[in-house]
Amino acid sequence: MPLPEPVARAQREQMVAQQIEGRGIRDPAVLAAMLAVPREVFVAEKYQEYAYDDAPLPLPEGQTISQPYVVALMAASLKLRPGDQVLEIGTGSGYAAAVLSRIAAAVYTVERHDSLATYAREKLALLGYNNVSVLCGDGTLGWPEYAPYDGIVVAAGGPRVPHALREQLVIGGRLVMPVGSRPRLQQLVRLTREGEQMYRKEALSRVRFVPLIGAQGWEGEQDDWDEVEGE
Ligand code: SAH
Repeated sequence: MPLPEPVARAQREQMVAQQIEGRGIRDPAVLAAMLAVPREVFVAEKYQEYAYDDAPLPLPEGQTISQPYVVALMAASLKLRPGDQVLEIGTGSGYAAAVLSRIAAAVYTVERHDSLATYAREKLALLGYNNVSVLCGDGTLGWPEYAPYDGIVVAAGGPRVPHALREQLVIGGRLVMPVGSRPRLQQLVRLTREGEQMYRKEALSRVRFVPLIGAQGWEGEQDDWDEVEGE
């Protein structure tokens, strides 16, 4: 059964206070977006009651909807301004795209699984978030048609920042992505394009994302979870 709006609203307020502000995220636009977007709409029916838990939740195709704090952390790390054009790689449920759409002017998001791209489009349309465009394809190649972007966020972990994505940043633009030498254990990295060929790299926190699979990501569906577990 869907959560009644007053209940959902109260849970969102608590989530923002405890999980987001409570962990040091102060960007008012990010906090307002996290308060506005109904996460329960993006999670599967059977996980409704956990929609505002401090955890990732399962999606079809073995993927996950990110933990709310991670969505807020990535959005805040992008240092977005209201007129910005944003590219997201890894649409998943569409939840993070919805949050970004409340902060920036337009969001272009790429998902490799057709079923998830369709799922996200439906949810975003239902909520009337019409400044989000969803493409099904290999996001490691970016979305050249609407480039360059002020912000690029990659919601899956890859071995390195794909060349195509660096190239699709405006000068002054920021890219945030989990990078690691193993498919499921990464460091969140921020790349700022400071000139035509000049990028500044900063390491943010340690994170655990599903793998980025594509031409400039990992090669195939490999599950090295057992190898990584226990670290
Ligand atoms: N932002 C999402 C969570 C993303 S999980 C949300 O809010 O729900 C990561 C997603 O990245 C998965 O859906 C996975 O299928 C997708 N993905 C992995 N490699 C990709 C690639 N090369 N291009 C596009 N999407 C990719």
